[in-house]
Amino acid sequence: MPELPDLTVVAEELNRRVAGRTVLEASAPTPILVRATPEEVAALSGTKLGAANRRGKFLLLPFVRDGSVVRVLAANPMLAGRFWITGRRERVRARTGLRLLLERDEDLRYVDREMLGKLYLAEPDGLDDIPGWSEMGPDADDPALTLDAFRQRIRRHPGELKPLLRNPRFVSGIGNAYSDEILWEARLAPFRKRSTLGDDDIERLYLAMRRVLGDAIDRIRRSVPPNIETQDRSFLKVHLRGGEPCPRCGRELRQIGGREATTFCRTCQPPF
Ligand SMILES: [Zn+2]
Repeated sequence: MPELPDLTVVAEELNRRVAGRTVLEASAPTPILVRATPEEVAALSGTKLGAANRRGKFLLLPFVRDGSVVRVLAANPMLAGRFWITGRRERVRARTGLRLLLERDEDLRYVDREMLGKLYLAEPDGLDDIPGWSEMGPDADDPALTLDAFRQRIRRHPGELKPLLRNPRFVSGIGNAYSDEILWEARLAPFRKRSTLGDDDIERLYLAMRRVLGDAIDRIRRSVPPNIETQDRSFLKVHLRGGEPCPRCGRELRQIGGREATTFCRTCQPPF
């Protein structure tokens, strides 16, 4: 599942390679993935791609006509949605939600083998109409989210730490993988209740969140482009490494749950 570091690098790569290019033709080969009519999709023809951005777990891609943004694609890839920059002749795969034919013989495509992602085509000032958008908390790497601001916010969000980190109303952009990494880095158990945290625990959580996400972005910048359809999780220290030794203490990492597994170290991340 693409999370903040993955989508940050995808946006950077789109800016490097396709921003400013004209969309010759736009279509939705698998219309169910797109929350827009075929006519609205087709109307993207003749626009230019603006600068891509990321907000939470959304990739934002503006379409510009005569110098003004006329539409914004907000893509929430969920489990398996991926953007591809491909040659025009590349076979159009099943489950392609959007295909943009760009000048210079390349396509930008969104492919989603799990069909769980959603593509919204919003008016420039219409992002608030996207479900959950207006309730979204700050991005986990937002410079305005200082330690003080983080302390204020966390007070309003009770419950266990793992779901808390994944709750976009608290901070946005963190999913199942990076919540495991952050909690391991902070030496906090995923099931621990927020109400049991002291001031120093909260500071450690905040610093771990920033460090883990920042390091991941650096690493992904080196390993993923130009192949933005791929995802690099090889460097994660604990997520989905149940049974392997903890990189810090050497004891066996525990893993519970299936597809949405949680991995942690019972020694380094004590339950209280
Ligand atoms: Zn350990």
